[in-house]
Amino acid sequence: MNIYVTYDYELCFGGQTGTIEKCMLEPTYKLMQLAKLHQAHFTFFVDVLYLMKLKEYSFIDTLAEEFQAIKKQLEALIEQGHDVQLHLHTHWINARYDGEWNLDLPNYRIHKFTTEEINKIVGTSVKFLEDITKQKVFAFRAGGWCLQPFDKLKEAFANHGVWLDSTVFYKGYNHTPTNLYDFRKSPDLDLWKFDDDPLKIEADGAFTELPITSCAVSPLFYWKTVFFKKLFPKKHAVIGDGTFLRSNKAQMVRLLLTPSHAVVSCDGYRSSLLEPTFKAFSNTSKANFVVIGHPKLMSAYSLDKLESFIFNTTKQGHRFTSIHEVFGAPKTEEALTQANSPTELSNNP
Ligand SMILES: [Zn+2]
Repeated sequence: MNIYVTYDYELCFGGQTGTIEKCMLEPTYKLMQLAKLHQAHFTFFVDVLYLMKLKEYSFIDTLAEEFQAIKKQLEALIEQGHDVQLHLHTHWINARYDGEWNLDLPNYRIHKFTTEEINKIVGTSVKFLEDITKQKVFAFRAGGWCLQPFDKLKEAFANHGVWLDSTVFYKGYNHTPTNLYDFRKSPDLDLWKFDDDPLKIEADGAFTELPITSCAVSPLFYWKTVFFKKLFPKKHAVIGDGTFLRSNKAQMVRLLLTPSHAVVSCDGYRSSLLEPTFKAFSNTSKANFVVIGHPKLMSAYSLDKLESFIFNTTKQGHRFTSIHEVFGAPKTEEALTQANSPTELSNNP
C-alpha cells in the first residue's frame, strides 16, 4: 500500500493570517524530524501565490526575511526527499500589506478569474515553484477544494504540465460563500483518469485523479471533538496562531446531527481516525491511501497520533511515499502500474 501524507503549506485565512513561524516553519520542521526518524516521505502542496506576494513585498526587510526562511525550508524538504507541488489560494493575488496582510477574500475561489487569467496564474506559479525546487511540478491541490467546474482550469493545466490532481474526496460536499464543491458523484476509487470532469472516469483521459481518502464520520465524532478540546485544551491546541475560516452554523448543525463523509486527515483531533480508517481501507483492493493535513493545524495530540500511525503501518510493510516518488516525471505506464498495485516495503530499493 502506498500511503501519501500530504500537507497544504499555508498561512491562515480567517482575518488574522498568523505568523510563518507558527503556521508553517515550526510545525514543518517537526514533521521533517518525524519523517527522518521513520524514513517517511511527505508531499507539501505549497500556497505559491502567497510566496509570490512575499517576494513582491521584499522591499520590506521582514517580508524579505520571511520569503528566504520559507525558500530555505522548501529546499530542505526537497533535500530530505519530500515532494513539493502546487496549491493555489487566489485571495493572495490582490492582497495588500500595511503592517499586516489584508486578504482579498472575495476572490478566494480561483473561478472568480477568467480562463486567460487562470492560464497566467498557473504558468507563473509553476515556474516560480520549479525555480525553488529545481524539479518538475506536475501535481495540484485546489485551494478550498475549488476544482469545479474544471473546464476553467483544464487548458491552464495542459499548457503548463500539470496532469495530476489530488483534491476530490468521495461524497465530499460543501456549499458556503467561500467553499463550494460537490464530489457526491465521485467514483469510490483510489485512482482514475479524467478529461473534462474530475468525477468522470475516462480511460484515455489526459489527467489523473489521486483522490484524498474519504471516511464516514458519525455525529458522535464531532461531539467528541468539542468535548476533548474543552477537557484537554493544551493537548488539542493547534500550533497555528492565526484565525481559521469557520464552518457556518447550518453546516455545524448538519455535522453534529447527521452522518457525513470527511477527508482522512492528520490535523488536530481528526488524526484519531487515521488508524481505524486505514485498517478498514487495507481490507479493500485499493492501493493508494491519501491523507491531508496542514502544518498550522498540528497539535501535540495529532503529532503523537501521526507518529504511532507511521510506526504501526510501516511495521506491517506499508510505505509512506510522495507523489513525486510514485508518479514523478517522466510520466510512464510503469509509474501508473506501480501506483495501482499494493506495495510491500521489501520491494523498495
Ligand atoms: Zn489551502
